Amino acid sequence: MINTLTATAAPAISVQGLSRTYGSGPAAVRAADGIDIDFRRGTWTAVMGPSGSGKSTLLHCAAGLEKPDHGRVLLGDTDLTLLGDDELAALRRTRIGFVFQSFNLIGSLTAEQNVALPLRLAGRRPERGLIRDALAAVGLADRGRNKPRELSGGQQQRVAVARAMVTRPEVLFADEPTGALDTRSARAVLDLLRGTADAGQTIVMVTHDPIAAARADVVVFLRDGRIVDRLAGAGIREITDRLVALEA
Ligand code: ADP
Repeated sequence: MINTLTATAAPAISVQGLSRTYGSGPAAVRAADGIDIDFRRGTWTAVMGPSGSGKSTLLHCAAGLEKPDHGRVLLGDTDLTLLGDDELAALRRTRIGFVFQSFNLIGSLTAEQNVALPLRLAGRRPERGLIRDALAAVGLADRGRNKPRELSGGQQQRVAVARAMVTRPEVLFADEPTGALDTRSARAVLDLLRGTADAGQTIVMVTHDPIAAARADVVVFLRDGRIVDRLAGAGIREITDRLVALEA
């Protein structure tokens, strides 16, 4: 459950007054409409809401992949909205981890080489032991030499989690991390994320799946670019009911 020592400290990420409009004139869409949210250290937050409610916009702005029109995004003491593209790219390589629905592993590289990649990109020489430990932590100690196509979907996603975690990021962003997995593989990936959150990792996850969201500490619900609801410690049934009510 929530680690009270780290959870009471300053948030890992603070999103303040975030607005983002796409297009202009009558066709303009307010994808984010004044979102305020703190993602506390050591907690796992699930972001839910109907299609088009602004989940990706919030995730992308919080992760420094996209610039808001208004508002601030603080990662620790760093305001991401004030950084240039190069600074943002460097920050994303070292202080933020990403896991995507489609795994995004590089097919020509082995699992070990995929996990080592963020370190190489950050100009660090990946130590063998570190890479092995990262793969062991996701239960794939014996799969380091395999290419992604030789692994199941669930195993590939666990490699992706190892790759995201190898730089010890302040926040792990996950975009539908179980969306392409069968029930059993999804559970293994969710167990893994639960374990990293319990060990103090901050996770922000977009999902449509109430089973995945129920593993998080907090669920926030978006509609029309605004946060309209928040549940803490909720079960699958309660989350599903809120979601259905929002989509009605
Ligand atoms: P969600 O992730 O909840 O489906 P998004 O954040 O992707 O929602 O989108 C919110 C709204 O913004 C939607 O109406 C979507 O069509 C619009 N939108 C998102 N990205 C763009 C874009 N690059 N250009 C134009 N409209 C966009």
